[in-house]
Amino acid sequence: MLLLLAALAFTPLAAPQSGSEPSGCRSCKQRGVLDCARHDEELRALEPEVFCSEAAACPDCSGALSVDCLKCPGGPESAAMEARRAEVAAWLAASGKHAAEEALGRPVLRIEALHAHYAAEIETLKDGKKKVDGHLFLHRLARDGELAAKLLAEQYGIERERDYRAPMRLWFWQDAKAHAQLMREVLMSGSTGDFKLLGRKPLFSVCTSDDVFKDEYFRLLTLGTHHLVHMLQSNVWDEEWIGDQGGGWFDSGAAHWIEEKIYSRISHYCIEEAGQTPDWENGVWRAAVRIWLTKHDSAVLPALVKKQTGEMMPEEHALAWSFYDWITATQPQALAPLLRSLKKRTPTREALPEHLGLGVVEAEQTWRAWVKDTYPSREKRPKD
Ligand SMILES: [Zn+2]
Ligand SMILES: [Zn+2]
Ligand SMILES: [Zn+2]
Ligand SMILES: [Zn+2]
Repeated sequence: MLLLLAALAFTPLAAPQSGSEPSGCRSCKQRGVLDCARHDEELRALEPEVFCSEAAACPDCSGALSVDCLKCPGGPESAAMEARRAEVAAWLAASGKHAAEEALGRPVLRIEALHAHYAAEIETLKDGKKKVDGHLFLHRLARDGELAAKLLAEQYGIERERDYRAPMRLWFWQDAKAHAQLMREVLMSGSTGDFKLLGRKPLFSVCTSDDVFKDEYFRLLTLGTHHLVHMLQSNVWDEEWIGDQGGGWFDSGAAHWIEEKIYSRISHYCIEEAGQTPDWENGVWRAAVRIWLTKHDSAVLPALVKKQTGEMMPEEHALAWSFYDWITATQPQALAPLLRSLKKRTPTREALPEHLGLGVVEAEQTWRAWVKDTYPSREKRPKD
């Protein structure tokens, strides 16, 4: 059987049909196409995962990332190049003018991934002493955002097309004036800080150069991923954000859990305080939570599970993350039903026994014992 399959597989190669497809030449290494020189190696890997307005505007390849080899009539990769060029052109035509482009009267950078649509005007961001190009930043965010969506899908058994009601939208503006204009004219908000809409048609918009984010690359990358998790969780199934319905621990727990999973530390708390961002234990939480729980032996969960996300103190965010971490590690099948219950405004004290088989007090005892057994007593902290 194996021999027969092998023979079948080799037949077309051994006997090419008449007028067979062109096979390239030595200059294109038998591809029929050459890499478009305008995109570096990292972008060559990231661009095909998304649609990008900057790639689509490439004067040489129109977003296909490769160009015809001029020394031969083409080769095995020619058809794929043509197909991608057509796909990018169709996307560009169908996507029309972005709301921000309408308001600002100029094109903005747009990247469309499976779960999220990004828009930005950023020249460069600061990564220590290095500079990161705004276009590359948005691609890396789109990559991390898809990873976050994949992790969430694994946790809750989400199927994108069936379970999400809209694409998430994330906007980043370096110029404070552009941000203010969009807030006023498109988002109908008088605020100057960041903007977050959850539930039905989630949208997050931020001025990257403001006092809080200071054009810092890593802060903005993790910010985008963190908010994307809140948005995905609020949009899945019933369009309902649980963060202000008594499900703050689960809402912030998931956002922190995925942020930590991808970046190995936590940088965001969604606490709106101008100019001041909490940083509990440098965002490295395992040993810190273990020590905190040892020092505080009276029950914390009964009060924590009633809080809204916006009311939680920094250490409560860490405890919520850890409690979510424990459920993920020990009863992952309970996550989706818990979220569904919280979206129906079932109080946590009723949802826990139903889906975990433990009341709040027993759950706290089991979680505390797990933390003691599982988390290290000391942990290296990253330098800030
Ligand atoms: Zn060639
Ligand atoms: Zn691009
Ligand atoms: Zn190109
Ligand atoms: Zn948050």
